[in-house]
Amino acid sequence: MNKPIAIITGASTGIGRSLAIKLSNQYLVYLISRNKEKLNKTKELINAQNNDCKIIVSDISKTKSLDAIYSQIEYKEKIELLINNAGIGVFKNITDTSIEDWNDTLNTNLRGSFLMTKMVIDDLKSKKSGKIVFISSVAGLQPYKNSTAYVASKYGVRGFAAALREELREFNIKVITVFPGAVNTPIWDDKNMEEIREGMIKTDDLTETIFHAINAPNNCVTEEITIRRTSGDF
Ligand code: NAP
Repeated sequence: MNKPIAIITGASTGIGRSLAIKLSNQYLVYLISRNKEKLNKTKELINAQNNDCKIIVSDISKTKSLDAIYSQIEYKEKIELLINNAGIGVFKNITDTSIEDWNDTLNTNLRGSFLMTKMVIDDLKSKKSGKIVFISSVAGLQPYKNSTAYVASKYGVRGFAAALREELREFNIKVITVFPGAVNTPIWDDKNMEEIREGMIKTDDLTETIFHAINAPNNCVTEEITIRRTSGDF
């Protein structure tokens, strides 16, 4: 097993699946999410490219998942890249946003990224190399109505990543935060967005752009990258 390891959360669909397929050329990818069937579909697509991957079925919002995930990663010294991508979107006004909606959103999008980062950080620090990518959102840069929990989680991701970047400079670890506009993924299923989905960014186009950011050479780091449709937001 000569490839370095990349861990990708939320690799069962959407952006995470697309990133996993592309990155499997370069890395042994560990795919993490809750839905085994959909993870297996991603695995099939990776295998069809003659690449390999590992599946870990887990809920990253739960503290107890972390030990179970970590124990399933062989050759921990080969961990080079973590992509904190798993996320959920609750798009409701504040009256309709339940405490459960708030907790689920913050626990997945923000706390899950914190937990996963803690899981790998000592391995990366000890070898003084590595990359951590956070998939925030344009909702981490500007507010949108009917999205308080989502916007709070994505602003939180930006802040967490920015503070982490400062702390990890001396360890030669690159921290990259991505702020995508609307991307056509299952996150928009059942959200009355059918009319505009075709015009959204395509996952593979987003992946291509993130791929270049991840592969910035030598001592360059693409710290923050906003990826919108050429024609702007909806
Ligand atoms: P998606 O297709 O719904 O993918 C979300 C992924 O997260 C799925 O693989 C899901 O897998 C996983 N996930 C959710 N909760 C999880 C949990 N508790 N533990 C483990 N995995 C979990 O949506 P997407 O658009 O690709 O979203 C990926 C990321 O991009 C999210 O952070 C999202 O906020 C961000 N983003 C999306 C857009 C957009 O317009 N699509 C724009 C900006 C940013 P399981 O259900 O199998 O667990």
